[in-house]
Amino acid sequence: MITRTLLLQMAGSRQMEHFARHNRLATAMAQRFIAGETIEQVTEPVRQLNAKGFTVSLDFLGESVTSEQEIAGTVDTYLRLFQHIRTNELNANVSIKLTALGMDIGPEIASRNLQRLLKAAAPELFVRIDMESSAHTETTLQIFRDVFTAAVPLTNTGVVIQSYLRRSEADVEELIKLGARVRLCKGAYQEPGSVAFTTRAEVDASYVRLMRRLLESGVYPAIATHDKQMIDAALQFKQELQLAPDRFEFQMLYGVRRELQEQLVKEGNRMRIYTPFGDHWYPYTMRRLAEKPANLKLALTSMLRG
Ligand SMILES: Cc1cc2nc3c(=O)[nH]c(=O)nc-3n(C[C@H](O)[C@H](O)[C@H](O)COP(=O)(O)OP(=O)(O)OC[C@H]3O[C@@H](n4cnc5c(N)ncnc54)[C@H](O)[C@@H]3O)c2cc1C
Repeated sequence: MITRTLLLQMAGSRQMEHFARHNRLATAMAQRFIAGETIEQVTEPVRQLNAKGFTVSLDFLGESVTSEQEIAGTVDTYLRLFQHIRTNELNANVSIKLTALGMDIGPEIASRNLQRLLKAAAPELFVRIDMESSAHTETTLQIFRDVFTAAVPLTNTGVVIQSYLRRSEADVEELIKLGARVRLCKGAYQEPGSVAFTTRAEVDASYVRLMRRLLESGVYPAIATHDKQMIDAALQFKQELQLAPDRFEFQMLYGVRRELQEQLVKEGNRMRIYTPFGDHWYPYTMRRLAEKPANLKLALTSMLRG
């Protein structure tokens, strides 16, 4: 628990990021979770995933961006990514963080950039809006609602709900009413007890409740977890509710529990692999290490052996 808290605090440190980006060991460690640095470099990993029966969600790494130049660069990269997915006929959609589109400068900037991307992605490319820390939840959902229900709605998008947040039950009900596509995850940030459940049992119980609501009433929910207990509960609901395999998808992260990913596909389930790329890999990698601090030891040992 202490290690998790420490790693999550380190994830937010600009100083640590500067150090890590210039450190060979840290860069090597990140490679387990990152598919490449450029759009071109991810083509082959995505092809390999597609060949194994997985779909993909590509995430250009970046968050908490406050420089207008960097925001413009992110928008441009996503526009090129859409073209690349189409030209190479990759079976992939994209994920994006609104703080990479300028939400920390102003919600209207992120909203404008999101609308531009959704129009360029439409009609066939789906854009998932990732969920960030609880300081951003309300604004993220507001921006999503605004574009999704506008006079000329942009509907090739969906959001993420985190089961550790106390507010999520109400949010899920509202999103079901809107007919929105929801990805359900446990949540990856350091949150206070005032807004989030603090024990694993509470977070898991909330996950199961929300998953059931989404599977029985939601629109093509994404069950994003590596937790075998959550996956077994989903498979049980699938059977109880007699859901066809195309009514929902599982999602897992690139490089995490690969055998389980393959097993679920072999058993006839849909599986999408969240595949990040880019050179701003530090906060993302730190959150992955915080989820399983043993990764840190494993990575260090194998690198030292190498
Ligand atoms: C597709 C996808 C998208 C996500 N999007 C978001 C998002 O938008 N916002 C957000 O806050 N969070 C997001 N997350 C992260 C999520 O909130 C959790 O932090 C993360 O998935 C770990 O929770 P878990 O459900 O896998 O269960 P846990 O209880 O954390 O893990 C269950 C088991 O899975 C294995 N495992 C889990 N993580 C790792 C890891 N990093 N390395 C190795 N083994 C691991 C371990 O064996 C562990 O015992 C996303 C996760 C996925 C899979």
